[in-house]
This record gives sequence, C-alpha cells and structure tokens, in this order.
Amino acid sequence: MPVKTKSVANARRSVSRSGKSKITNPKPTTHKWVWLSKEGNRDMRDLLGGKGAGLAEMVNAGLPVPPSFTITTEACNYYSAHGNQFPKGMWDQVVAAIKKTEKAAGKKFGDAHNPLLVSVRSGAKFSMPGMMDTVLNLGLNDETIQALIHQAGARFAYDAYRRLIQMFGRIVMDIEAKKWDAILDEAKKQRGIQMGKADPEKDTKDTDLTTDDLREVVRQYKELYKNELGDDFPQDPYKQLELAIKAVFGSWMGKRAVDYRRLNKIPDNLGTAVNVCTMVFGNMGDDSGTGVAFTRDPSTGKDELYGEFLINAQGEDVVAGIRTPMHIDEMQERMPEMYRQFREIARNMEKHYREMQDLEFTVEKGKLWMLQTRTGKRTAASAVKIAVDMVAQGLISKKEAVQRIDPMHVVQLLAPRFDDNDKKAATARGDYLASGINASPGAATGIAVFDPDTADEWNKEGKAVILVRYETAPDDVHGMYASKGILTQHGGATSHAAVVARGAGLPCVAGCEDIHVNEAAKKFSVNGREIHEGDFISIDGTTGQVFAGKISTLNPDFQKETDLQTILAWADEFRRLQVWANGDYPRDAVRARAFGAQGIGLCRTEHMFFETARLPIVRQMILAKNAAERQPFLDQLLPIQRGDFYGILEAMDGLPTVIRLIDPPLHEFLPPFEELLVDVTKLQEQIRHMERDNVDASYQKRELADKENMLHAVESLREANPMLGLRGCRLGITMPEITKMQVRAIFEAACQLKKEGKDPRPEIMIPLIGNVTELQNQKDILEPEAHAVMQEQGVEVHYKFGTMIEIPRGALTAGKIAAYAEFFSFGTNDLTQTALGVSRDDAERTFLQKYVDMKILTANPFQELDREGVGQLMEMAVKQGRKTRKNLEIGICGEHGGDPSSIEFCDMIGLNYVSCSPFRVPVARLAAAQAALGHVTKDK
Ligand code: PEP
Ligand code: MG
Repeated sequence: MPVKTKSVANARRSVSRSGKSKITNPKPTTHKWVWLSKEGNRDMRDLLGGKGAGLAEMVNAGLPVPPSFTITTEACNYYSAHGNQFPKGMWDQVVAAIKKTEKAAGKKFGDAHNPLLVSVRSGAKFSMPGMMDTVLNLGLNDETIQALIHQAGARFAYDAYRRLIQMFGRIVMDIEAKKWDAILDEAKKQRGIQMGKADPEKDTKDTDLTTDDLREVVRQYKELYKNELGDDFPQDPYKQLELAIKAVFGSWMGKRAVDYRRLNKIPDNLGTAVNVCTMVFGNMGDDSGTGVAFTRDPSTGKDELYGEFLINAQGEDVVAGIRTPMHIDEMQERMPEMYRQFREIARNMEKHYREMQDLEFTVEKGKLWMLQTRTGKRTAASAVKIAVDMVAQGLISKKEAVQRIDPMHVVQLLAPRFDDNDKKAATARGDYLASGINASPGAATGIAVFDPDTADEWNKEGKAVILVRYETAPDDVHGMYASKGILTQHGGATSHAAVVARGAGLPCVAGCEDIHVNEAAKKFSVNGREIHEGDFISIDGTTGQVFAGKISTLNPDFQKETDLQTILAWADEFRRLQVWANGDYPRDAVRARAFGAQGIGLCRTEHMFFETARLPIVRQMILAKNAAERQPFLDQLLPIQRGDFYGILEAMDGLPTVIRLIDPPLHEFLPPFEELLVDVTKLQEQIRHMERDNVDASYQKRELADKENMLHAVESLREANPMLGLRGCRLGITMPEITKMQVRAIFEAACQLKKEGKDPRPEIMIPLIGNVTELQNQKDILEPEAHAVMQEQGVEVHYKFGTMIEIPRGALTAGKIAAYAEFFSFGTNDLTQTALGVSRDDAERTFLQKYVDMKILTANPFQELDREGVGQLMEMAVKQGRKTRKNLEIGICGEHGGDPSSIEFCDMIGLNYVSCSPFRVPVARLAAAQAALGHVTKDK
C-alpha cells in the first residue's frame, strides 16, 4: 500500500468536521430566521435541523405535508448566547409565517370558529431521540375549544385540550410529570370502578374516559397549573407559541440534551431548530390513525416496511408506548388505500434519499399526511446488510457503503451472545422468565437495578448491571448508558428504551408485558417468582428472552458475518493504512490474522515473564547482583523465550512481527514492597513468640531471611516515579545481558523456522528511546548478537531494527534517531503520558473524567489521540524521520491504534500502519478506509 504524499495541512483541512459550524450572529434586522417548509430543502440540515430539512424536502417532492415552518438553529444559538432573548425581527417573522400557514391550511390561529392548531417540535441537525421536547395542539383555549367541539365532538376536543395543558405544563413550565399523571390515573380509576373493572387502576384505558371525565381532567389540570405557577394557563395562542418556542430553545442546553450530546460527541454549538406544523389528528375516529415506519427493518436490515400503526390515536401514543400498536402490515387490511399510498411514498423517499428512512405519518379522516422523514437509526447488523443490499440494488456505490457504516457498528456486530449450552441449562433449570420485544440485539448478564442513578453508581463501582424499568424516559439515559442491557415491561420497538439502546449498541428487551415491575420496591415479579435488586438476570436483545441468573456470553463468529466481510473487503480496497495487531501469544496472532491483520505491531515480551512457572526464574534473574550471577537464570529463560517467539513468528508466517524487548520497571515482577514489609514484621513477631516459648523457629528464620533479602532487593529497585525510572531501553543499557538473551531467542526461533521452510519476519523494537545514543548503544550490542546467531545457524533471516517513539525527546530528535532505526512505532500511551505530564495509571480515576465533564478536555486523551499536542509531536517525528530515511516504516501501537478518530489522524500524517487489539482489527480496517475516503457527516 503506497504511503500517501498529500500535504498534512491540506489533509487536515479536508477532514475538518463539517458539523462544527460556528455560532453566527448575523445582522439582527434583515436576517431570515424563519423558513416556510416550501422554501427549504434537504441540504439545509445545519440551518433547519434534520426534521425541518426533511419536511422541506417532502414538500419539494410533492408529498402531503401539513403547512409548516421552521425557526432556524441560528436563532437558537442567538437565544442561548444572548440571555435567552429572541433575535430582533424573529418574532415578526414567526407571526408572518403563521399568517401564511393560516392561508395554506384554511384556518386561523386563535379563531373562535375555525382555529388553526399547531405542534411545536425541536429538531437538531442530528436526531436526538427523546432528548428534546414536543408540544401538540397549541392554539387551543377556552374559546377555540368550542369550535373544535363543533367540528370534531366534545370528547375529542377535551382530549386535545387536556393533552395541550399537560404537555405545556410539563415541558414548557416544568411541572413534574407525575402530578399530571396522578390526575389522569385517578380519573381512569374512577371510571374503571364505575365500569366494574376487576382492577380499575390497571384495566382502564385512556379511551374509556368519557367527555365528562375529560372535561373534569381539564378543570383539574388548569387548577394544578394555577396552583403550581400562580398564573392561569395562557389563553392567548401567540403567548402559548412564544413560550413553547422558548422552551424548545431552552431545552437545547438542558441537562438531558447536553448529556446525550456528550455521549454521542455532538457539538454544543449546532443549536436546535423549531418546527411549527399544522396539527393533523389521527384520533378523529376509525378512519384516522397514526404510525411510524422504517423503509427497511432497522433490526435485521430486511428490505421490507417495518413499523407500527394505531387506529384512532395521536403520534405520541405510538412513540411513548402508551398503547401497544399493531404491525404496519395490518394497516394493509384495515386501510388498504392509505397503506398503498404510504408504501409508495416510503419507496420513493428511500430512492430519493438513497438511504433507509424513518417516517412518521398520520391519517386524518381518510387523508394521509406525512409528518417526518429522516435517516433511520438501525442496529449494526441492519446497517451492514442495508449497505450491502443497496450496492446490489444500484442505489449506492461501494465507497458510499463503506462510508456509511459507523465503526462502532462493527464493534456491536462482534458483540457477545449467549453460550448455547449455558442457555439450554438455564432453560432446563427453569430460569427462563419471559419474552418481550427483541428491541436491540446482543446478550447481556448482570445484576438487576431498578433506577438509573443506582445503575450509574454501581457501574462506576465496576458492577455489570441491567436496568429494569416499567418503561424508560429521557431522564433515564445516564443509567441506560451505564448498563450492560435494558429490560422494560412496556413499550414497542420504537419506544424510547428501544431507540436509545439501539443507538448505544446495548442489548434491549422492551415491552416484556409478562413481568410486573415495581420500581418503588426495586423488584419485578413474573409467574409468581420475584427478582430483586442485586439478583442476576440475563437478557437477549436478539431473541427478546429474559432469564434469571447468569448465562455466559460468547463472541460471534466473525467468519460467518458475510455482509460485514463484504464491507470490510471493500474497505480494504480504499484504505491506505495497513492494519496490524498487538498480540503477545500465538493465539493472539492467529485471531488477529483471522480478523485481517497484516502484521503484529507490538509483541510485549515481558508479558510472558509473568507466567507462574517462569516468574521464580525471572525474579532470581532480577535479584542477581551482577551479570555473571544473572547469566544462569538467563540461560534458563532463553529456551522458554525461544519457544514463545517460535510460536508467534510461526503464526505470523510471511508477515512482519514487531517484538519489543523488555520494557516495564523490574519491580513489577517482584512482590509489592508493602506486602513484604507486613510479611517480615509478622515473621519477626512469630519468631519472637516461638523463641519465648522455646519452640524451634529455624524454618521461620530461613523464611525470614529470604523475605528480608527480597525486601531489600525490592527496596533498592523502588522508585518514586517508576514510569519515569529504570524501564524501557534503560534496562537493556544497564543490563545488556537481558536484551541480548531476548535477541538470541528471537533469532534462534527465526532461524529454526527458516530451516523449516517458513518465512519469519521479526522486527526488533527498542522501547523508550529519548536519545539517539541510547539506540546506538543497543544496536551496537544487539545486532552483532543477531548476526552471531544467524552465522551459528547458517541461515539468513530478513529482519528490521527499530524503535518506539514514546517520549517527547524521541519525537523531537527523530531525525537523528532514524539514522539508526529502520522503523518507528508510536507508543502513544507513554507519549500521551509524558507529553501531557499525566499519569496513565491514575489520572482516569482521579481527574480526567472530571476534565472531560467540565469540557477542559474534549475527550479522554488516552482513548482519543490529542491531535494538537501529541499529534504535533508525531507529525514532527514523521517528517524528520523520513527526511533522514525515506522509506522509514512508521506505525502506532498505543491504545489509540484502535480508535477511529485517532486512526483518521494517523492516515492524515502518513503512517504506514496502525496496530490495535485483535478484536479491534475489523473496526480499524473500516476506520482506515473512511479516513482515506474523507470525512462524511453521519447521522449520530
Ligand atoms: C505505549 O506506550 O503506547 C505502548 C504501546 O507501550 P506500553 O503500553 O507497553 O507502555
Ligand atoms: Mg510504552
């Protein structure tokens, strides 16, 4: 794969994130803040948000869209930046847009005879499910309701009015949801009693409420509003509209939205648009209804309409899971003509956008209205299948298919599933509890938790939790993200729990109606069995099954993921970067190759030292007082290491294998100082007692002598800053016999393989080089050793000699270092630690997360490469290194090698390869292709 030559500066410009639009403060008086839907188009997502641009595009395509307009994201940003003030001129434009909407709808806002009612919805550039708020039926008041009673009946009118007061009170004025629910629940209970229902609280539906009941609910809602706020519910429709717009703008900076953005890496300065749309009603009788549908199955990717539909209901009833909807196919029987029209529109919209669409629609008295189209969120399996199918159907190119897959989808696809035998055993034990909707795939085991705060807390304590809720709400999101999986009693495939879980790649079983969740008592019951907080449960979001107890999970078979294989094969055609893997053992190498790794970028040889059988030899080797004393132990280690290297070089036959010589501070191989001190003190005490009692303590004394020796040795190796101490190349320089033994072992193994007809390609890597003289020193000692082995064996092995660049001085003097190194590998774990002066072992626990929360840092620099700082050092090292040695091979082997953003940067600065954990190889293959193809704005 050729090393790309384009200038870094250009490349960087070309990948600058288009999502980060600046907050603009255009001239307030002349600026256009409000766009009628017919004035916009699909390319205006930055300004009109996803929903606004979608409405505009549907109008352009001649689809039936209720008259509507959009207030821009710029207006939202202005509002946030100017103490919650609308920009000058905006309100006049809103009023003018209302007038035009009135004309188009043939109704009038606030009119006593033919009132226009509108919905107000947020709509950011990236859809943020459940994060922002919607208010329906604005324009209703004590006067306009009379017209609605006349047009659609009193029951309908009061139902619409109570919904408005409730949504307005809750969302705009922040009155707690439970206060509204209490009134409605009581009304339902009373109605249930009158109807003689067995369980009036549970069995009574909203639809059982009579006109009188709803009128009473409206009265009590108004009373609640007044009691809470001291004011009457606003009767002026324009006042309602103004406050609702402000609430949507305000919610952009609300905690829920900010949390969601942080989790999904959506910038804060995008702002949300506000969509004002003429109300159409799906609850006007049996010739009305409402639904949501995807043009393809968002779980499996199957090319068929997938969605839900409710007769005689409003859209919120479907989304909130208040009533359990019917499958979209049933619409075909119940409303054949509407279904035909809708299916036609769905097909056309997908062709038009060349992308799977998520559609919302309403049928009002036999007329179909389209309310929303947007790119549909989907599971990993669905995303991959849709991309492959769309290429086959000629809708998109291979390049687009590769660009469309979120690298995190690859992670999800390779996510765990239940071990079949374990699952069978659980079933045989009677641990199968119930089944719900398979809302988001993947299997998870954890302890049941019934509230999001506990989920969050326990996750931080390192416990695997499964969040169990009656249904989830946006306030639960922090707890959902902290869980391994989500289980809800209520709600469908498009409920909040399902949508959020799919986006986050968490297994989710929703609408599991057989369980009865009691959040207050922190338990659920099913068929007479109770599961309490802290009990283990297992859920399978792929099948919808729920079990008591633990079921072990397995990783999916990569080889059988044929659609993913196709995408990755296409990705390989586009990428410039090679993808190598970090692996210490032959089994890692085998796995890495199966995932498509083109080399081993880091074999940490010291990991082998930790094995139980070897540790005693390693310890004696360390405790030896000089080289001569050390040699016998090295002689014992030599064949062991030779075996290690033979295994990994054999598994990587024909591919480069970077073997790093010993790196960690030696005390890591010895028992901890404190532990030894306690042992010594205890032994001394024991001996004292034994001697006092005239008991023979000679055995204890020998043990004490051994422990004291070890204690002194450990003490002598103790360092205040071991990470900056005697480690890396400093070990080889001060104790060259250790690295010499390692090199001998590598070459003996390689020569043997060569003799067996294999093609070993070892690359010897020296860690922690800061000064070229260090590398010179090791090269002068180690190369003769390598040549000696090859001469002894009479075999030539193709090898390279190189270094890690992992401390700033190494990067700064890379030009000199390259004279002695055939390759560089960026150890960005240490480079980040040393460049930032931040301990890689402690900082995440102590302050880094806080830094990210406080936005002092945009991301954890140990996960996502700090381009500005560490990246600059890398860029400098690449340039200087290649100036000295044109064909210098350069890679990265720190944790960042598996992170898509960091991979993009590595591509930009012209590295040859990234090296990451074997499981990350597929992700890196895709991310490397996306980096080469250039950044595309994806829906988050
Ligand atoms: C690094 O520092 O990035 C690296 C790969 O080495 P280690 O993590 O072993 O220090
Ligand atoms: Mg390191």
